[in-house]
Amino acid sequence: MSDARSKLPLMRHVLTLARGRIPSQLIIQLTDACNATCPQCGMRRNAPFRRSLLPLDQCRRIIDHAANSGIAALSFTGGEPFLYSKNLLSLIHYAGEAGIPYIRTGTNGFLFKDADQPDFASRISRLAEGLAATRLYTLWISIDSPDPETHENMRGLPGVMKGIERALPIFHEHGVFPSANLGITKAILPTRPAAKAGSAATCEEFRAGFRAFYRRVIDLGFTIANACYPMNIETDTASSLSAVYEATAEDDCVRFSAQERHAMFTALLETIPEFRSQIRIFSPLSSLHALARRYSGEEDRSYPCHGGSDFFFIDAKDGDTYPCGYRGAENLGKFRELDLKKPPVKPACRECDWECFRDPSELLGPFREFFTEPIGAARRLLRDRTHAALWLKDLCYYRASDFFNGRQAPDYRKLARFAPNSAPPPCP
Ligand code: SF4
Ligand code: SF4
Repeated sequence: MSDARSKLPLMRHVLTLARGRIPSQLIIQLTDACNATCPQCGMRRNAPFRRSLLPLDQCRRIIDHAANSGIAALSFTGGEPFLYSKNLLSLIHYAGEAGIPYIRTGTNGFLFKDADQPDFASRISRLAEGLAATRLYTLWISIDSPDPETHENMRGLPGVMKGIERALPIFHEHGVFPSANLGITKAILPTRPAAKAGSAATCEEFRAGFRAFYRRVIDLGFTIANACYPMNIETDTASSLSAVYEATAEDDCVRFSAQERHAMFTALLETIPEFRSQIRIFSPLSSLHALARRYSGEEDRSYPCHGGSDFFFIDAKDGDTYPCGYRGAENLGKFRELDLKKPPVKPACRECDWECFRDPSELLGPFREFFTEPIGAARRLLRDRTHAALWLKDLCYYRASDFFNGRQAPDYRKLARFAPNSAPPPCP
């Protein structure tokens, strides 16, 4: 992506913030069909419900309205969107031509099976070439565990880790730098001695798991990593949510108590700085700090989520718009009929930890507040200086990471400024 092209959306975002809004985001669930068996997800292939696929022409109408309304980021999710790779590639191309700057999609990795087959390299090369011909900004590949066997058993996709390792250099040759997306479940925790079975997972255990994950994905050849926080809305704090996005499950592997969530977010917050100079890590420390605080029992000072005001989710089943994947009781109707200049919902929700909406809300929240309530914004930053320092560090890191541009190799000289100069603090 040329410099001029990457600076244009930045200027547009500053104008958006000056108007008291934040750059908007749309997630289109292309399909809820999937070929994996992840226990943490209600869309696994053996879950008994009728699968849907959004028709191409409907998606194009949605993209037209998104582009005309200034949507900054568009994600195509699933299910497994690459089950319909022809549709997917044509829509990514269409969205790029429509001028949407940040286009993202991902895969569970089934594409990387059969790495020993003679046609593997040419097959992946064709895929990489097809993606490189579009304006795709991010391609994510899901990873559940640093241990290949655990990951492949959970996904029901044998051999994919080896395939990912072979595929990454091929993608890089084509100028596509995929992100490793960790879906956090109990599979991240190290094997426990029998005496500890049933006791709450600790910060040290999470920290060991996250360290192993970052080491593994760096070894595999990834240059970007992200973490997807566990979604189990049935056990979330007094939740009134009703998921329309079936990426939730009641399985024990995503059941975490508030104490465990506190340990998990604290561990991630303290592990990421160890690796920020070696791999571009998307998860903002300021957001992790806010989430850890939320589960510590202290006052929740997080910025409200922009689901329904600037961020939206379109469901594959009915093609309708929702404030997010988890507020299924609030159908906002057809996307093309929404006037995005007048947000249908005021940002106020903090009901879940969905990183897709919570992380950008937390990162962009202070900017919005500076433009709308400057005195309140300054007070808030002064009251929580740890959070303010992390936020400023995040901004510098995002810049050094070239805003996680998945079409650009990392600049390790810029990332080197984030090498840790002291040992991480002990777990609380
Ligand atoms: S997490 Fe993704 S890959 Fe796994 S079952 Fe759900 S949609 Fe499929
Ligand atoms: S916090 Fe955001 S993503 Fe979660 S339920 Fe509320 S609006 Fe939806």
